[in-house]
Amino acid sequence: FVNQLGDDGVPVDQLLASPLHASPVSSLPLPPLLYGPARRNSEGVDLTVTTMRAPLLAALATTSVPVVPLFDASRAEPAVAQALRALPAWRGTPVAQRAARLRHAADALQAELPRFCALLVKEAFKTWGDAVAEVREAVDFLRYYADEAERIMQPVALPGPTGESNELRLVARGPWVCISPWNFPLAIFMGQVAAALATGNTVLAKPAEQTPGVALEAVKLLHAVGVPADALQLLHGPGETVGAALVAAPGVAGVVFTGSTQVAKIIHRALAAKDGPIVPLIAETGGINAMVVDSSALPEQVVDAVVQSAFRSAGQRCSALRLLCVHEGIADGVIEMLGGAVAELAGGDPALLATDVGPLIDAEAFDTVARAVDALAAHGRPIDASPVAVPATTHSANFIAPQAFEVPSIEHVRNEIFGPVLQIVRWSGDPATVVERINALGYGLTFGIQTRIDSRAMAMAAQAHIGNVYVNRNTIGAVVGVQPFGGEGLSGTGPKAGGPHYLYRFCAEQTLTINT
Ligand code: NAP
Repeated sequence: FVNQLGDDGVPVDQLLASPLHASPVSSLPLPPLLYGPARRNSEGVDLTVTTMRAPLLAALATTSVPVVPLFDASRAEPAVAQALRALPAWRGTPVAQRAARLRHAADALQAELPRFCALLVKEAFKTWGDAVAEVREAVDFLRYYADEAERIMQPVALPGPTGESNELRLVARGPWVCISPWNFPLAIFMGQVAAALATGNTVLAKPAEQTPGVALEAVKLLHAVGVPADALQLLHGPGETVGAALVAAPGVAGVVFTGSTQVAKIIHRALAAKDGPIVPLIAETGGINAMVVDSSALPEQVVDAVVQSAFRSAGQRCSALRLLCVHEGIADGVIEMLGGAVAELAGGDPALLATDVGPLIDAEAFDTVARAVDALAAHGRPIDASPVAVPATTHSANFIAPQAFEVPSIEHVRNEIFGPVLQIVRWSGDPATVVERINALGYGLTFGIQTRIDSRAMAMAAQAHIGNVYVNRNTIGAVVGVQPFGGEGLSGTGPKAGGPHYLYRFCAEQTLTINT
């Protein structure tokens, strides 16, 4: 690989002395409560999918997507009033009991993994691998937030010089509006709801219009384990009307939103314009996620990480790779290998076990991505790749083949394209300049670094204004509890989901001082 070195200042002796990084995912010692990332065989096939083949396919045959009644925006205020009435009882339920109910929900969800996977395949067009991973993540959120609520909601005695008894305690804020997207209709939906419920808040959950069936089944499961119906209400309807009416309703104590940057800003403005208390907003939004590859990187490792990051879930992940910045010295080889890897992907019907890349969520998403591809074709150069095989099935209707374009500069990448479309830029010179230009895009969700120079990886990570940085691996699939997830800048307000600070935002703090 010495011959592959470019002009990015990689000193050969340092390179040779550097450890060879393997992808750390499979070797992570995971805490026992977590499923962690999917276990794969040597060919990369998710073992759960292969070992559960029969129950998964049986569930597909017997599971139908429920019809969810549309909620009228005029009922938003009465629903919030109902959530306020339910608050004293739920907030007054000891945290250990609330946590126990969430753990029961985790057990029930785990037991029903095939049915929920089938729902995700049928309603959200998830591939089986993605569906299994999503159910696992939802289970992890339930268990993690149950544990976290018990950990942080114990009153803390603060002994000191005042001669009084001082105690700091966390209390629920009130009704939370939880607004979620369609791309993780179970995991993100469940994560938001579980966080609010664990901390003693009541919940008004507004799922995405495309995936209300998954949300309904998740809510039914929570009700079945003892979460009161008026402490968790499902309000399915258009975001512009029902979502907006919920955000505007008096009595709302907080909003947790995951979706586009544009809608996060609309909600932010709406909350700021409200009379009454200042209402906290947690917003987790999109990104123009980049990966910088230097000349010391291993091309095979890079290509594997790029294919996973850019094309898995048909690119419909907030964390998905959008911009690959590859050093001029190895660019030709990486791009050629990437073309070959893309051609190996099987696309189309998500219900087929062999499918790697399913369709986009709906015709509107298809049109938006297709328009973006047309625009890219005008100023970018498509990389050479054989067409991805697509079986002719009904689910393939909104399928867009994974594809990559070389574009002239980082600054050409302006918007998040929410599909399996990658843009590639060649670079040379100082990698700090590349990171500076990526920072200047304004997003800050995920960032990949591929190098065998440890000091360089650390310097780039420190320079990046980005929430989740991955070195020598893919940039997707953050694991609850060990890889807290969330961005900065145009990518969100934090705190990070699945991390130790998340639940604090759902709570108010009270200092209790007693003159003893
Ligand atoms: P979206 O259009 O912003 O919608 C998200 C949710 O907001 C939906 O439930 C939507 O309802 C609702 N909504 C729309 N307008 C609203 C309004 N004025 N007031 C209140 N609620 C409103 O996003 P999306 O297209 O569903 O999801 C894709 C985006 O989410 C991408 O940008 C992706 O990067 C981002 N995302 C981020 C994360 C993260 O953790 N950072 C995770 C997943 C996805 P409707 O269904 O009726 O439109």
